Amino acid sequence: MARTIYTCFPNGKAKALTMSYDDGKTADERLLEIFNRNGIKGTFNLNYGIMMDEDETTVIHPRIKADKIKALYEGHEIATHTLTHPTVARSPLSRVAMEVSEDRKGLEELTGRIIRGHAYPNGSYSEDIKHLLKDLGIAYARVVETDPSFALPTDPYEWKGTCHHNDPKLMEYAHFFADFQKRQYLKLMYVWGHSYEFINNDNWNVIEEFCEFMGGRDDIWYATNIEIIDYMEAAKNLQFSYNCDRVYNPSVQSVWLALDDVDIIEVKGGETVTL
Ligand SMILES: [Zn+2]
Repeated sequence: MARTIYTCFPNGKAKALTMSYDDGKTADERLLEIFNRNGIKGTFNLNYGIMMDEDETTVIHPRIKADKIKALYEGHEIATHTLTHPTVARSPLSRVAMEVSEDRKGLEELTGRIIRGHAYPNGSYSEDIKHLLKDLGIAYARVVETDPSFALPTDPYEWKGTCHHNDPKLMEYAHFFADFQKRQYLKLMYVWGHSYEFINNDNWNVIEEFCEFMGGRDDIWYATNIEIIDYMEAAKNLQFSYNCDRVYNPSVQSVWLALDDVDIIEVKGGETVTL
């Protein structure tokens, strides 16, 4: 009988955790220290224009200074959040194109990275903007609405997190996810928010507790948003023989498969593997 062949996350895992934090304010420094201490990866959505123009003496929560961006966010994803944080669905499409592209350009110049992610400022988006982002080379975009199904996004340009960190069910979701052992589906937990909210609400303990509980687990892949998008793309690009007894991986990165959910196979980039 033919064996089942399932896509896995890296190293045969079936669960992934990712985080998404907006606006690049200085509270990100403490949040990053918590993430890094617990091995948790996140995506940080930054507004290049505001960062460059801000007079930090006039704002309650100043933004991270441009010269600190590259080192501070090392190991995490930096994504676009538009140049000046407008409500994009109310703006001319040409302005949205400028806002996203100029943010991307500035962040790329600061970091030397290729920036391909986005979070919609003020949670505002439309079908036209989703198409525009794709045309601008943006690979996914996060919305404000959430969906506690722990599923991978069906539409990456309308990527819903599992919950905001202020959701009263955060730790309930965390326990469910940590305890979940079935492997029929790939499961993703995705938490979003703003780091300055921990100052406003005086509740750093919420994210401390969450990260200590979720970090350091062998069965969870800790990934940035774009790492998940790119990995699933590489998995989709695998080329199987009709019998599925051979598979070729045309990508550079490895993809992992599970045979009968028992044997974990790494298909390295550029290799053909007999299953
Ligand atoms: Zn924002």
